[in-house]
Amino acid sequence: MRILLIEDEEGLVITLSDRLRNEGFEVDFASDGEEGLAKATSSEFDLIILDLMLPKKSGLDVCRDLRRSSIETPILMLTAKGETIDKVLGLKLGADDYLTKPFEVMELLARVEALLRRSPVHSNGSSNEKYAFGEVEIDFNRAEVLKAESPVDLSAMEFKLLQFLVENRGNVHSRNELLDAVWGYDAMPTTRTVDVHIAWLRQKLEENPKRPRYIQTVHGLGYKFVS
Ligand code: CA
Repeated sequence: MRILLIEDEEGLVITLSDRLRNEGFEVDFASDGEEGLAKATSSEFDLIILDLMLPKKSGLDVCRDLRRSSIETPILMLTAKGETIDKVLGLKLGADDYLTKPFEVMELLARVEALLRRSPVHSNGSSNEKYAFGEVEIDFNRAEVLKAESPVDLSAMEFKLLQFLVENRGNVHSRNELLDAVWGYDAMPTTRTVDVHIAWLRQKLEENPKRPRYIQTVHGLGYKFVS
């Protein structure tokens, strides 16, 4: 797994790249926004750690430019205390998560792991662009779902949940695991949220939502998708 670290604080670059390499990641780094953007667009990474305050081009601009050029690599943004507004803007511009400095390296590693788990390319299932079951067809790239050839209206979270279940089909997932994988590390929702979204997905996709064939409950454990 390759990580691009875009950070201008030399000490932090050394600490983080050492730790990440110890964890088995391949680390490349850039010390300003322009160099970072150039590296992120010219070579493939599994994750980008992006500082907000950077020389030449800010982290926000780098983030926006990457998403505009359809580069969907997960981005973990690093912000300093008091940069709350920028943090919100960063998430709007397409960052996947953020971490406020100063932070424990363990905390950063946990976020990195969570983002890589969430990234569809690295889930256990196939990373096929399309998947079909029963009368349902999913186009992952377009985030579109058809049932009996008619479009199904899914919310972003319903789609992410469905995608996670399908890509990890056959495996049982606890409610907490689903919350972590779909709603994210800092998620506010409770495990009840998972049940509600599962019910909605069944309502929209199953032939008989009361006796679901594909999105199954595993009593006492959680949910699994079977085809
Ligand atoms: Ca900085």
